[in-house]
Amino acid sequence: MTNKNLEKLSSSYLFSQIGKIIEDRKNVIDLSVGDVKLPLPQEVTEAARRAADELCRAETFRGYPPESGYDFFKRAVATYYSRRNLEVDCDEIFVSDGIKSDMNLFLSVLERGKVLLPSPTYPAYAEANIIRGNEVIYYDVTPPDEAADIVVICSPDNPTGRVMTRSELSAWVEYADSAGAVILFDAAYEAFVKDKDALRSIFEIEGARKCAVEFCSFSKTAGFTGVRCGYTVVPKECGLNDKWRRVKSCCTNGVSYITQRMAECALTTAYDKVVENTAYYLQNASLLLDALEGGEVTGGKNSPYIWLRCGDSYKEFFKLLDMYGLGVTPGAGFGKGGEEFVRINSFALRDDIIAAADRLKRYMFCK
Ligand code: PLP
Repeated sequence: MTNKNLEKLSSSYLFSQIGKIIEDRKNVIDLSVGDVKLPLPQEVTEAARRAADELCRAETFRGYPPESGYDFFKRAVATYYSRRNLEVDCDEIFVSDGIKSDMNLFLSVLERGKVLLPSPTYPAYAEANIIRGNEVIYYDVTPPDEAADIVVICSPDNPTGRVMTRSELSAWVEYADSAGAVILFDAAYEAFVKDKDALRSIFEIEGARKCAVEFCSFSKTAGFTGVRCGYTVVPKECGLNDKWRRVKSCCTNGVSYITQRMAECALTTAYDKVVENTAYYLQNASLLLDALEGGEVTGGKNSPYIWLRCGDSYKEFFKLLDMYGLGVTPGAGFGKGGEEFVRINSFALRDDIIAAADRLKRYMFCK
């Protein structure tokens, strides 16, 4: 018998639907699905080659990896946090193949209950919780009056590009503390935060280690959407560390040695190149923001996403697509709160961004 909750999902995932519509058009600059375009730094692919060479010699061959990650990987992640003055123990770090699957799996550590999701929201959160049978409630930046069991926070946010302020995040930590809720903090875009006083980790908030788990990914920060690697930090104080280790050990067999060597390299030897790549996308975002001057936008600073208020989101999506040859994502696809917006991403090569900016300028002029 199939899981009845599957019937509550739409027939296909938002980005597959949009991808199909755009695919059928010619000469479209696609700024819809947020997939990276810059190649990996050469140091990272050399790390992959070296790791692969080790696997073809008996003395250095490796089989199953440790489920929570190799020590060298966890040390690199712990050092990455310590460079930001945050202390994370290697036993609190768990390697993953990315946030989408790890956050989904993490739900199996938690009892079924009420989950608070941002509105608008990254569709995978809603769908994963619906499949598990959780009751989904939406919030708008600040904590509601009612109590919940799970709170999902995304900062910098997809789709709005907003970065939560210290006081907003502190309010959520206080809320979780008093409601006995757990915060699942999605830091997929933390590396795009360049302002010195903007936060990149929930653990910068006092008390967060008692109630929050942080999900990180190399997908957008290091160009690993195809390689697949991420990590989840589960502090010992939150009481879920052992349970998560148990779930990981029965549900996954870790991440390949080659991938973890590549990720280690992205945080160490190739780190400057990785930072250059995020800076490139942010420069793209800045060019797009210039083109949208006068429009009502959030994001594009400390975030690769721009969220533009434009009126009926599907109508404007088709207008941008068919009249201007520009693919964006209709905000309504991100649920309640997105109906009057489109999301524009800056993951493209510069020539495409320059052409897209020109098309956006014309669109804004004719609005
Ligand atoms: N979380 C957010 C907010 C995202 O936007 C994305 C991808 O677009 C993911 C998670 C998925 O990340 P990963 O590639 O690590 O699974």
